[in-house]
Amino acid sequence: MRSLLQDNVLPNDLCIGCGGCTFHIGGGSKMALDERGQYTPVIASDADASVADPLCPFSGMADDEDTLGQALFGDRGCGQTGLTHDARLGFYRSVSVGHANEGDFRLAGSSGGLTNWLLHELFQQGEIDAVIGVGELAHAPGGTQYGYQIIESASELHRLAKSKYYPVTLDEVLRSVHARDLRYAFVGVPCFVKTVRNLCRQHPVLEQRIRFCIAIVCGHLKSRAFAQSIGWELGVAPATLESVDFRVKVPGAPANRYAVEVKGAHTRRQQQVFDLFTSDWGLGFFKYKACDFCDDIAGETADVTFGDAWLPEPVKAWQGHNIVVVRHPLIARLLEHANKAGRITLEGVTSDDFVASQGANYRHRHDGLAIRLQDAKAAGEWVPQKRIAASYAHASKKRQRVIRLRNRLREESHRAFITAKQRGRFKTFKRKMQPRVLHYHLAAGSLTKYLVKRVLINVRRVIKIRV
Ligand SMILES: Cc1cc2nc3c(=O)[nH]c(=O)nc-3n(C[C@H](O)[C@H](O)[C@H](O)COP(=O)(O)OP(=O)(O)OC[C@H]3O[C@@H](n4cnc5c(N)ncnc54)[C@H](O)[C@@H]3O)c2cc1C
Ligand code: SF4
Ligand code: SF4
Repeated sequence: MRSLLQDNVLPNDLCIGCGGCTFHIGGGSKMALDERGQYTPVIASDADASVADPLCPFSGMADDEDTLGQALFGDRGCGQTGLTHDARLGFYRSVSVGHANEGDFRLAGSSGGLTNWLLHELFQQGEIDAVIGVGELAHAPGGTQYGYQIIESASELHRLAKSKYYPVTLDEVLRSVHARDLRYAFVGVPCFVKTVRNLCRQHPVLEQRIRFCIAIVCGHLKSRAFAQSIGWELGVAPATLESVDFRVKVPGAPANRYAVEVKGAHTRRQQQVFDLFTSDWGLGFFKYKACDFCDDIAGETADVTFGDAWLPEPVKAWQGHNIVVVRHPLIARLLEHANKAGRITLEGVTSDDFVASQGANYRHRHDGLAIRLQDAKAAGEWVPQKRIAASYAHASKKRQRVIRLRNRLREESHRAFITAKQRGRFKTFKRKMQPRVLHYHLAAGSLTKYLVKRVLINVRRVIKIRV
């Protein structure tokens, strides 16, 4: 039987690679990395993929964040009364900014270290036996470096610390959850949490075992080429890349001026993230197309959401701050008690502060989505039903052009990197992308700023070499 996945999601490249479908379909269906380094389902020829349509976050048939949020946290949710609703964040009990004080959670983490601190606390309080999170995998150089795994003790949590801007998928780890009767906390980007929530409705075993869903705020997911391109730009070729630390804290620098570190067989190199050609997040190189059709920034279906507090004051502290949206009453209590005891620091802020902390994200993913949806409609392309209406009404012609150029940067970056790998030269990637980046900055009105920045970076490099 044909399915929405096979007829619409996959042909339109709108799969985020969560693996919910292959887990649910079972049998010989599995997830695999495609040529771009994105996970995609390979559905067995004898399988009926339509059974997974109601849980795929991009089929348009799964319950959306509003429906799931209402069932989980609204008046009819299980004892979760007293939450406020904001169309931009979903339901919330509180919004705050802070960081962990005890242990090395903050310095070892991406932001304020509160994600791993909370997982540790859930272990300590006897609330969970295991965590489903993303960490380093045992691998050969050039192989798959990061992925979902199950951690069964608080002392192993350090393996999950820091964000992995890397493709991940859930099907295998969910099979392990199905096989092993433990109480789990799940950590994922918002669309993966949505998949897990929809799966729980169909698999009572998952519903009973996955006790907490924790979201991390997400700008977009990257293909494996992002890690490889950072490595290559720093002199480590994809086949020899051993690891990438995507979030190295730089003492004295603002928190958003973090560095990246790559390791190859005989090399270890570090560079400030804004100095690299590859890692300007605004350009969206190696982005999954699905991310351009996603409107959940605050992890609306999660019990708690952690992000970076990109706000004027917190960003000054190089050690990092989280922005936190709490929905679950038990998590609210744990955080409150620890805050009173000084084990963590949390200060209440508003939902407007949350939106301000993710300003570019909301502009691209909400306002920009309306343009992308209207473009798709005009071109007769299939897109899933979204909560944002298709429209050009709010956007100038210039803004529409910028949004369209971002689509082209996304698409061309995948192609250019494949060609660079075939030719064995990073320069091929840069040569192909540079004119497009200049064109983009010209259209966006940021060309002078971009050129000045590149000159300063090169001057700094020359001074460093001479010293
Ligand atoms: C792809 C991606 C995009 C992001 N985009 C934004 C953004 O636009 N704005 C923003 O404020 N924050 C973003 N974040 C979140 C941010 O980088 C931090 O992860 C978050 O603030 C938590 O920091 P922490 O110090 O509390 O986490 P830590 O204590 O360091 O714990 C990190 C946790 O993240 C989990 N994790 C790591 N990588 C992944 C992954 N690929 N998928 C799922 N879980 C993972 C680990 O399991 C671990 O539990 C993004 C994270 C990812 C992975
Ligand atoms: S988004 Fe997830 S559920 Fe949907 S097709 Fe892709 S892997 Fe399957
Ligand atoms: S932007 Fe949306 S679709 Fe993309 S990984 Fe993040 S939560 Fe998922």
